[in-house]
Amino acid sequence: MNLNGKIALVTGASRGLGEGAARALAKQGAAVMLLARDGALVQKVAQEIGGGAAALACDVSDYAAVERAVAATRKRFGGLDILVNNAGVIEPISDIASSDPAAWARNIQINLIGAYNVLRAVLDGMAKAGGTIINVSSGAAYRPLEGWSSYCASKAGLAMLTRSIKLETGARGIRVFGFSPGTIDTDMQVKIRASGINAISQIPRADLSPVEHAVRGLLYLCDSASDDLIGEDASMRDEAFRKRIGLG
Ligand code: NAP
Repeated sequence: MNLNGKIALVTGASRGLGEGAARALAKQGAAVMLLARDGALVQKVAQEIGGGAAALACDVSDYAAVERAVAATRKRFGGLDILVNNAGVIEPISDIASSDPAAWARNIQINLIGAYNVLRAVLDGMAKAGGTIINVSSGAAYRPLEGWSSYCASKAGLAMLTRSIKLETGARGIRVFGFSPGTIDTDMQVKIRASGINAISQIPRADLSPVEHAVRGLLYLCDSASDDLIGEDASMRDEAFRKRIGLG
């Protein structure tokens, strides 16, 4: 895939799937802005990528900070073609009955409102020039899992945002997708295993998928070959999708 001349913004790019996506997009030739709350860590990743990569500390739950980061991306690189809306947290892992209301709300503030914040900040400009948006979803958007009510609710809401964007902007050249990466070997899964709550926490690390597989799926959505999936949640658990990306 040739992404020369394309400009990408990746949230949650300091580790895990976001880091993998940023590295892969840069390798295909895109200029990439990496965002995460930990500025030092995300800077380090950008420096390792080198050349056309830059980084900013940004908490996606803060709309003003997101707006500044998007403006800085456009100023530095001259546009924005690809958004990987990836930043997310699993916490709090707890039954609803004993959950901390502030922690529950914080999850929604990051996973759903944070994702909305980034969409809100990029959509207008992107609608003028066209572009690709990938909202990182989860099987949890469709399947309730005990102890994960805030996470499941946040991802279900994000799936509806994906569909809403297709409805509102599809005719204006925005390619929007949800993307479920499967259960992948990242820090998020370390926290999940430590909790011991629900079936996902029982999956041995050796059975998790490598980040590289999910990154392959994510990159596929940046190409017109995936146009028939616009507005949908593509899933790494879907055999037909895996075949399309050569993992069949
Ligand atoms: P991860 O290893 O925990 O990384 C999460 C990333 O998001 C980090 O870069 C983190 O950096 C950033 N982040 C968290 N809160 C943020 C905030 N408020 N503002 C900006 N950045 C923030 O998680 P991951 O497994 O790579 O997950 C990435 C995405 O995939 C998430 O949306 C997750 O829900 C989804 N997903 C993961 C799995 C899985 O099996 N791992 C499965 C399905 C879906 P800072 O902490 O420095 O901000």
